[in-house]
Amino acid sequence: MTSLPHLVLTGSPYERGLTHGEAFAAEIRANVETYLTRFAHHGATEEAVRRQASEYVPLIEEWNADYASELRGIADGSGVMIEEITLLNVRYEILYASYSDQTTKTHGCTSFGLLPMATADGETYIGQNWDWAAPIADTLLVAEIHQSAKSDHIAITEAGIVGGKMGVNEQGIGLVINGLVSPDDGDHPFRKPFHLRCREILDATRYDSALESIVATPHACSANYVVGHGDGEVIDIETSPNRTDYIYPQNGIVTHANHFMTPDFESRMERQLPDSLYRANRLRRLFEHRRGEIDSNIMKSALRDHFGRPASICRHEDPDAPSEECSQTDTSVILNLDDCILHATYGPPCDEDYQIYRLCQ
Ligand SMILES: [Zn+2]
Repeated sequence: MTSLPHLVLTGSPYERGLTHGEAFAAEIRANVETYLTRFAHHGATEEAVRRQASEYVPLIEEWNADYASELRGIADGSGVMIEEITLLNVRYEILYASYSDQTTKTHGCTSFGLLPMATADGETYIGQNWDWAAPIADTLLVAEIHQSAKSDHIAITEAGIVGGKMGVNEQGIGLVINGLVSPDDGDHPFRKPFHLRCREILDATRYDSALESIVATPHACSANYVVGHGDGEVIDIETSPNRTDYIYPQNGIVTHANHFMTPDFESRMERQLPDSLYRANRLRRLFEHRRGEIDSNIMKSALRDHFGRPASICRHEDPDAPSEECSQTDTSVILNLDDCILHATYGPPCDEDYQIYRLCQ
């Protein structure tokens, strides 16, 4: 059994980055190579990507000085150029902008939120299967961030990326996400990046300020954010560069995959990923008939569902797809927002047990 490494980060933003960079230097270098290969496969040349990353460096400083400082610490700690660390931190903008006019396969995710009325213990949960390139599973880590002015939190991130995507903070604010694609993605690339927003959500001390990180400023690329609070709140926010819309749980349950579910968006990702059309609805049904008695075993069982395998909720690599387009569930995550506990697997959940990671307070 393999589990994701757990790294505790304390001190100033720069010191936290330094620790992260020193501990995961090899994984960070591997990530730079993996992403340069993927960018090239989707039509973004290395020269163009490096130039784009350099342009982001002063902008990140402007948007969030602490994020920029932690990013610089990662560069210094790992000995990897700051443009390359920035490239990892804006890899969502680079890749998803290239997806909007292509037919190559992309990668999915299936997420959920459960209000107290739906769960056996009356607590609030969010979670997801995070489906991405298989080599990235080897560079994931559970980062536990301790900081003075912002919320302590625990989140899964890719080595070299400051902002964790799936996590919960000491206030009980939690986040899971899905990739989305619309035709306008990438038309305005130099807007606040996805991973920086993820970090601001988990840094937040109040639920409304976590939501503000998503809705207050325009986006470069589409994305779906499921933001919950341990006191019994979950909101799903769909975003594109020109539009934002909201999905509230029905009967205490919300699920999402990789196509827009509210009207008025021009949704693109299901063209490359038609399995998106059944994954969220299927997950909802798996929960719906156990509403009020959903416990962690029912959540795990639903996330291990193999309908449509390999393009299933529990995703496996497609043996017929080119390696640059292959994906699998790299980690399956369940977050208890009342108790700040993260359950996560290394790789598809049918192969592995969930490990428990707690935010030490
Ligand atoms: Zn499986």
